[in-house]
Amino acid sequence: MQINVSQLLKESIGSIRNYRLSEVVDIAGGSSMVDGEVRLMRTDQGILAKGTLHTEVEVTCSRCLSLFSCPLTLNIEEEYSPTTDVVSGAFLPLPGEPGCFTIDEHHVLDLTEAIRQYALLATPMKPLCREDCAGLCPNCGHNFNQGHCECLPQKVDPRWSELNKLALASGILVNEREGTE
Ligand SMILES: [Zn+2]
Ligand SMILES: [Zn+2]
Repeated sequence: MQINVSQLLKESIGSIRNYRLSEVVDIAGGSSMVDGEVRLMRTDQGILAKGTLHTEVEVTCSRCLSLFSCPLTLNIEEEYSPTTDVVSGAFLPLPGEPGCFTIDEHHVLDLTEAIRQYALLATPMKPLCREDCAGLCPNCGHNFNQGHCECLPQKVDPRWSELNKLALASGILVNEREGTE
């Protein structure tokens, strides 16, 4: 996602270039196709990159643990500061806060890092393969999205069965106590 901006840097503030991008970017260890449109605008500080990009990242469903592709929309807006003067070639002091995006000494603006950061922020913390993901059987680990498992009818939380055992041992059955009055 590299764009040479040497021409744009020579133009007046407010000058605009539009780009259609379509490229593979490494996001969180996986390669993702990223595409969309980006508008670059010359500002007094450098170049403002603004655009909407679409991509998909491979994530693990937080309920059923299956891998699936999660579509992401990235609304990027970042200002890039030049590190060298485009006319004289002299090094420029870096304005602004540390970690701000820069245009390298060859006047190349690289959107990759911004895309990576926006994609990580846009990735859901607890992704679901689908809204109504049925999850896994806590007993046998069967994926309920693929139908029922054999241990479904007894549907007893193991903690309750432990409690029933204790109740039996002390001569009181939890269920029987109710309704005896
Ligand atoms: Zn799922
Ligand atoms: Zn089961």
